[in-house]
Amino acid sequence: MKERCEPLELKIYKSLSSRMDLIPKDKNHFDNLLKGYEGEKRFDDWINASESDGILLNDLLFETNNTFYQIDSLYVAPHTIYLFEVKNYSGDFFIEGEKWYSSSRLEIKSPILQLKRNESLFRRLLQENKFSFSVEAYVVFINHEFHLYQAPPTLPIIYPSQLNRYAEKFNKNAIASNGVYPKLAEKLLSLHVNESPYSRLPEYRYEEVRKGIVCGKCGKLNLSLYKKTLLLCSDCNETEIYKEAVLRCVNEFKLLFPDKKITADQIDDWCGNIKNKRSIQRILRENFVRVGHGKTTNYTDVQ
Ligand SMILES: [Zn+2]
Repeated sequence: MKERCEPLELKIYKSLSSRMDLIPKDKNHFDNLLKGYEGEKRFDDWINASESDGILLNDLLFETNNTFYQIDSLYVAPHTIYLFEVKNYSGDFFIEGEKWYSSSRLEIKSPILQLKRNESLFRRLLQENKFSFSVEAYVVFINHEFHLYQAPPTLPIIYPSQLNRYAEKFNKNAIASNGVYPKLAEKLLSLHVNESPYSRLPEYRYEEVRKGIVCGKCGKLNLSLYKKTLLLCSDCNETEIYKEAVLRCVNEFKLLFPDKKITADQIDDWCGNIKNKRSIQRILRENFVRVGHGKTTNYTDVQ
């Protein structure tokens, strides 16, 4: 099934935030991605703890009617599909009419409108694929520090204080299983579009990002060689085996620059010339497949 893994966009942002100064707009987007991901993990824990028989599908991107839309979570239970928008908001919010505001009166996007839009597109997707399942859609506020004022009780919202009761409801509804729903889950998974056209990445060029090995613990770029095979972070005192740190750094390079070739010179430069080219060469030879000879030598993943 589709397990949740750290979104590519978030991984890239994490790496870039260590290697360049993000402009406030990008920094803000990065913070939101991070917070959203934490909320989604918390949501997974909640739904898994409900111990019902449903199948959880995460981070889905569908296309219906030439429109792409992202669904945080679908919970396919024997008779009902639950569609969830997961929000990790904390603090006080209030509603006026259809508009949503933070406590500082800043208008925010209405999660309900987003939910309604996704729900109607998703219902259409089910119709097109001739599945007649009932759909229930909710915005789930997963953070216990969240409070919403002036909300009518009819809104499709699950508040933090209601999480346990809803978990019980899923459990009860799941009793008489009809056997069709795993097929439906499989079908939905096959309709998921893989690459998100939504990724909003900041612009970056190889020449402009800071080189060096990012500390795996604190994310700073202050590692230096210590006792030949170890790296030491002068910010948090963490040590890491040189070889493992280089491999981590190669993965980061592949993620940020998928079109660039992996060569010893390139990786030595990317790691901030922290030791020497020969040691990089040895690590690449041991962990990748060598292609070409002499000056054209480069390395790719094992096929
Ligand atoms: Zn560190």
